[in-house]
Amino acid sequence: MKCPSCEDDKFVEVDDIVSEIEGHFFVVKGRRCLSCGEEFISEKEGQKMIQIARNLGIWGEPLKLHRKLSQSARGTIIRVPTDIEKNMKLKGDEEILISKIGKNKLLVEIVT
Ligand SMILES: [Zn+2]
Repeated sequence: MKCPSCEDDKFVEVDDIVSEIEGHFFVVKGRRCLSCGEEFISEKEGQKMIQIARNLGIWGEPLKLHRKLSQSARGTIIRVPTDIEKNMKLKGDEEILISKIGKNKLLVEIVT
């Protein structure tokens, strides 16, 4: 296999490729090009990811929406769009985990 970006053929197996589907982030296995850093998800992992996305009801749904952050006395607030709230059946008292991914992405996971 040759890298389509730089045509080199040296890869390293990795398990930390971050993929996004409609604003949801998946960490999957695959290969990374040693020369240019381009990442490739294996066919199997890709299928698995799509299956999970389908189970979550996010596959092919336009759930990536623009929202502005707002300020309160206690800090910055992210408002969850109503569509996502309904889709995920959020009650508003769930516990969440927020992780920083890269420079400008946040991953929000519902814990409870
Ligand atoms: Zn490459």
